[in-house]
This record gives sequence, C-alpha cells and structure tokens, in this order.
Amino acid sequence: MKPPPRGSSIDMLSVPCPYCGPRDETEFVNGGEGHVDRPVPPEAVGDADWAAYLFFHDNPKGHLRERWLHAFGCRRWFHAIRSTADHAIALTYPIDAKPDFPA
Ligand SMILES: [Zn+2]
Repeated sequence: MKPPPRGSSIDMLSVPCPYCGPRDETEFVNGGEGHVDRPVPPEAVGDADWAAYLFFHDNPKGHLRERWLHAFGCRRWFHAIRSTADHAIALTYPIDAKPDFPA
C-alpha cells in the first residue's frame, strides 16, 4: 500500500474522551476489549482459563466495548463502544460505568 501523497489529508478518527471532549485518535491508546474481569486470585486459575482470559476475546463485526487510554491528554482510562466494521465510536463513558447499549 502506497502512503498518501504529501500534503493530502487522511481521515482521522475523532475519539470523544468523556473528560476532555473530541480529540484526534493519535492522542489515544486502545486497551483492547472492555469489561473483561481478571481472575482473582490469578494463581488459583488453571493455564487454560488464564490463557482464555489473556487471549480469547470477542471479535464481532459490529459494536464492541473497548478500553481506551487518553495517553496524550488527561491520561485517564475510559470505555468506548466502537464499531469494528467502520470504526465509528457510538459512545464513550467512564471506566467504572456500564451503560445500556443496544447490541
Ligand atoms: Zn481525556
């Protein structure tokens, strides 16, 4: 794939941080699927269950709840519901919330 010509615009994803408002995607780090509970205590979990926790996550074509870090902004974690089909972010919310959202 050729890089875009110099001076051309590239469609950037605008990520609406729930604390700062819309910012360019380059300020953020995607932290993977959200609302995945870490097994507690980890040493009580077998290898297969630990591997499932680490590596096996949903990969739907459609909306997915993800964790995001505003790394070059407020440096706070939050959740986003993003479409894996077109990357559009439907909703962002604080890390300790889980609002209802149609599937
Ligand atoms: Zn922020």
